[in-house]
Amino acid sequence: DGVLLSELSRPCRMMLLVNPQSGKGQALILYNNHIQRMFNEAGIIHTLVITERQNHARELVKEADLSQWDALVIMSGDGLLYEVINGLLERPDWEEAIRTPLGILPGGSGNALAASVHHYSGASPVSSEELLVSCGFLLCKGLVSRMDLVSIHLSSSPRLFSFLSLAWGFVADVDIESEKYRHVGAARFTVGTLVRLASLRVYKGRLAYLPATKDHNNQQGLRNNMTVHCNNQASSLTPPPVLCRPSRDSSCHNTFHNSCHSNNSLKVRRSESTPSRSATKAPSGPPDSLLVPLDQPLPANWVVVPEEDFVLMLAMYQSHLAEDLLAAPDAVSDDGVIHLFYVRAGISRTALLRLFLAMEKGAHLATNCQHLVHTKVRALRLEPYSPKGIITVDGEVVEYGPLQAEVHRGLSRLITG
Ligand code: ADP
Ligand code: MG
Repeated sequence: DGVLLSELSRPCRMMLLVNPQSGKGQALILYNNHIQRMFNEAGIIHTLVITERQNHARELVKEADLSQWDALVIMSGDGLLYEVINGLLERPDWEEAIRTPLGILPGGSGNALAASVHHYSGASPVSSEELLVSCGFLLCKGLVSRMDLVSIHLSSSPRLFSFLSLAWGFVADVDIESEKYRHVGAARFTVGTLVRLASLRVYKGRLAYLPATKDHNNQQGLRNNMTVHCNNQASSLTPPPVLCRPSRDSSCHNTFHNSCHSNNSLKVRRSESTPSRSATKAPSGPPDSLLVPLDQPLPANWVVVPEEDFVLMLAMYQSHLAEDLLAAPDAVSDDGVIHLFYVRAGISRTALLRLFLAMEKGAHLATNCQHLVHTKVRALRLEPYSPKGIITVDGEVVEYGPLQAEVHRGLSRLITG
């Protein structure tokens, strides 16, 4: 698990944001039945804030006097936390604001972060109200870890921040199409998956990424100090992406080996990949040091995926994609990597279904599926070719079109217990 940073003081003052419409529309009932007494007994002084509409929470945390709160806790699905994180990073004092400990209680239909926090605690998988009670206890323990955030550039929207996932293709379509089944709770994704399987299609586009290196812990140093010695190229890199049939596709990832030769070439590439102002002109939040503007060619040390026909692209930075989908089994909240998955076109419906069924236990990587590719990256760029489609960030629809993303290690704080 991630490194514990601190512990919430007692008594602890929490703002508890509840979306009464999330999931089956029972978040307030769940709060009354399971959380209120638990928090009172644990000495958590909490103020209930019931959200009234979309972006209410975002506006609220943007203006809030944060010195009044030891933590901000979200009881909803992942969508409400996405608002809160973006609201915090839109503040002029974002650097301080984003260090406010954040907590999550599953009240929605997409409770991926809650399931991830429960998973990080080492407990065996549970769902629905058991997951809520577990997350409640973890909040009462009040241990705080760091959480990575990923900054995402779209072609014309302002930069946004993501704590969970970026999806295109099958997963994004299922996520959005299944909103109409919200009344069945977390099962909405199972229903949506079956419906989408019936009309399985191919998504065309170009995908590229900056591989994560083994010593990505030291990347901050690498970034700030151009003279950092870059020794043996082989030992400083992670193994090639996990391909289920490595022999067939390893040649596709040749550019991977070009990323680190010597001090000199490192310097050259650094200047090549120094972002121009247009890539970082967002008014607040940390600058993106790995990205060049979307309309410029990729830096030389990026890997371009050879395939252009996909069934899905999924970038994850937490373990769970949904309560019962362990998409990135070895992810922790602050590993500083984006777990990139893609499924190449040509996969059969049965094989894709098998992948999702295996994902319930995080066993999809062991299914020997030749169409699934998994690799760890620090930044990525996606350029879909078709004029229309769906891209989701943390389960929310964003502007469709070319995008790029970069991970910011440990930028936020998460109560993991
Ligand atoms: P779910 O997992 O059920 O989708 P989310 O937390 O993702 O739950 O919330 C879904 C959306 O509902 C979010 O985009 C959020 O902004 C919005 N929202 C928040 N409060 C309300 C409200 N009172 N009425 C309607 N929508 C709301
Ligand atoms: Mg949602």
